[in-house]
Amino acid sequence: MTSFQPQTPLPPAPGGAPVHRVETVIVGGGQAGLATAHWLADAGRDCLVLEERDRIGSQWHERYDSLRLFTPARVNGLPGLPFPGPPDVFPTGGALGDYLEEYGGTLGGRIRTGVRVLWVNALPAGGFGIVTDAGEYAAENVVVATGSEAVPKVPDVAAELDPGIRQLHSSQYRNAAQLLPGPVLVVGAGTSGADLAIEAVGAGHETWLSGRHPGEIPGNERVRAPLFWFVANHVLTLKNPLGRRARAAMRAAGRAPLVRTRRADLDAAGVHRTQARTVGAVGGKPELDDGTVLDVANVLWCTGYRRDYSFVPTVRLDADGYPIENGGAAAGVPGLFFVGLFFQSAFSSHLVGGVGRDAKAVADQICARSRQPV
Ligand SMILES: Cc1cc2nc3c(=O)[nH]c(=O)nc-3n(C[C@H](O)[C@H](O)[C@H](O)COP(=O)(O)OP(=O)(O)OC[C@H]3O[C@@H](n4cnc5c(N)ncnc54)[C@H](O)[C@@H]3O)c2cc1C
Repeated sequence: MTSFQPQTPLPPAPGGAPVHRVETVIVGGGQAGLATAHWLADAGRDCLVLEERDRIGSQWHERYDSLRLFTPARVNGLPGLPFPGPPDVFPTGGALGDYLEEYGGTLGGRIRTGVRVLWVNALPAGGFGIVTDAGEYAAENVVVATGSEAVPKVPDVAAELDPGIRQLHSSQYRNAAQLLPGPVLVVGAGTSGADLAIEAVGAGHETWLSGRHPGEIPGNERVRAPLFWFVANHVLTLKNPLGRRARAAMRAAGRAPLVRTRRADLDAAGVHRTQARTVGAVGGKPELDDGTVLDVANVLWCTGYRRDYSFVPTVRLDADGYPIENGGAAAGVPGLFFVGLFFQSAFSSHLVGGVGRDAKAVADQICARSRQPV
């Protein structure tokens, strides 16, 4: 393979440090970044994944201890490496972390961990300068694969609650041993909220779950997972009007239906479900929008995350905060790509078993635009 030459000379790095030249820099070494690196490596292209965590897969080990995936093992494989174990089992988050680490191992030296990308500069004549906390890179293409969980979102009302109430965002919650004795309010009725509410009840806490039910996949345990997977890949896609409408609605609302857990599971566990939202505080206690004031010892905020693309100043965002892109290619910035966006090309795009398809589409575009022969 001939060595890659950037399209334009780069300004020297501060202090005269060498600029590392790579054809494609991939920012983020989660499932989206790894799958993209797989396809580029498969095509013989030069690429490097920059991952700020010290260990590939560790985001999954950082999530709550009891996390069980809502997708079964049979659909959790990335391109080229099936997920291990019995196909119908719903693996733990930790098992997915281990799998990603193994997958990263198949990419040879194409990953640098412990490197945070601070800035991606689109150069006027094409190509990019990438500033990290461990030196600078020059690349013809940049793939942003930093996921959707950059900044935990907590409503302002959190600041009005009594300081004696233990408050944790779902990203800080590991297990029920972190809870104070007494009742629990879980805010946000999505997948994490449902999981943590069931866990809190199981640990002996009277538990309320506040927030609009996001819908759920119908059917019994045996049909739900295959039905979900079919719909997520083949029905809810940008190729048809139903999928395009679903994407707009889900992105605007910021929620997706429950897959493994159902309302009936919450009721059977004894969770007090309420569609009322937690909107205020009365005497330091959380107040719901139906006027109910709850005297709880703990509040678990399962209220999601914000994406953050501030390190790529040229990216244009739509009204819902998503990069404007077509097939992963950023609007108006040749050579800049995204992989792993929620509902990028289909509902399965942000899922471990669905991201490979979008990663391939982006890798193909990179191969087509790269001028270097393989
Ligand atoms: C609680 C929870 C449960 C889920 N359960 C399932 C499930 O059952 N099945 C399923 O298929 N999906 C599930 N998902 C959805 C999806 O698989 C995950 O969100 C997944 O982590 C997304 O992968 P990603 O590669 O897009 O992003 P991430 O896994 O977030 O990876 C992005 C990487 O980029 C790195 N990074 C970010 N910024 C920078 C920077 N500036 N410089 C360098 N590195 C950077 C981060 O450290 C991170 O490692 C779940 C998500 C959550 C939150």
